[in-house]
Parts: sequence; C-alpha cells; structure tokens
Amino acid sequence: VKTVLLDVDGVLADFVAGYLQLVCDVTGLRFQHENVTEFRIGRALGLTADDDRAVANGITQGWCAGLDPIPGAVDGYKKLSAIADVYIVTSPWNKCPTWTYEREQWLAKHFGIPHARVLHGSAKHLVRGDVLVDDKTETCVKWRDEHPDKTVVLWESPWNVRDAWGGVLTNDWDRLVRLVEVLP
Ligand SMILES: [Mg+2]
Repeated sequence: VKTVLLDVDGVLADFVAGYLQLVCDVTGLRFQHENVTEFRIGRALGLTADDDRAVANGITQGWCAGLDPIPGAVDGYKKLSAIADVYIVTSPWNKCPTWTYEREQWLAKHFGIPHARVLHGSAKHLVRGDVLVDDKTETCVKWRDEHPDKTVVLWESPWNVRDAWGGVLTNDWDRLVRLVEVLP
C-alpha cells in the first residue's frame, strides 16, 4: 500500500474562500478564486500593506474551524483513502494560537481523519511518502528535490498554474486515485 501525503489548505479546505471573505470584510472588495493568481493572496489582489495586514489579523479563533471543504474533496478523499495510506501534512497559520487544534477537529468532522494521521509543520520535505499532493509550487519543488524517485502532484489552482512546474498538475481526484493505483 502506498503512502500519500496530503496537504489541507487548497486541497481539502477552501482557505481562499475564507480569506476572500476577510478581504471583503476589510476592504469591501469582492474577489473570486480566479483573481488569486499567485500564492501570496494580498499581492495577487493588489492589496495595500495595511489592508493585507488587517486581513491576516482576521484569522483568529474559530476561523480555521469554519472553513468549508472544497467541493469534491470529501468524496475524493474517501476514494483515495480506500486504496492508499493517507497522511495529512499541513502547515499551521502560526499567528493563530488555536489553529492546530481547530484543524484536527475540522479534519475529524468533515473527513473522519484521526489525530494519528495528521502532521503539522512547514518542513514538508522532511516527511517520507510515495506521493505528495500540495497546491504550493515551492513546497512541491522542495519535496521533489529531496525525494527525486517519488511522485509529486501539484494540485492545480488559479494561484499555481502560472508557476514553472514540469511535473504532474491536476485537481482531479479520480486521476489522483488512478495515479496512485498504478504506481509500481
Ligand atoms: Mg496548501
């Protein structure tokens, strides 16, 4: 059985939807996912440094727990976990003191994922697995450099499609499941 390392924000959790709501609360501007054309959301939207800071400060207790799952993720995860050993590898928003606790509650509530399957940290390249799935190009590149014989899937999103990336790019759960099934 293959080990799949799965990111949360941008793969399972709709972080950007929650963030765009904060942007709207602070600035009154209503943006869509498509407007987020690079990983740094504030920069992609052309926010001032002050607005960007005010938005980020809106990530407080309860925010992480209130995120919506990305459409299709619950079913997709179910299919993937039926054929692979899935571990969550998620980088916490370190300025929010309740983030990691809320994340685990959220993963248990929406996906039935237990504590023992969750790793919190930003040094994802130190984690071993057969496949990494992540929406941050920088993380994918770093992990690939560390595990050149393994498989990396950049989870296709408006904020990464313009990045230089020669590897697998998809956000199709069936394609991911197939890819894992046929791994030697
Ligand atoms: Mg992510």
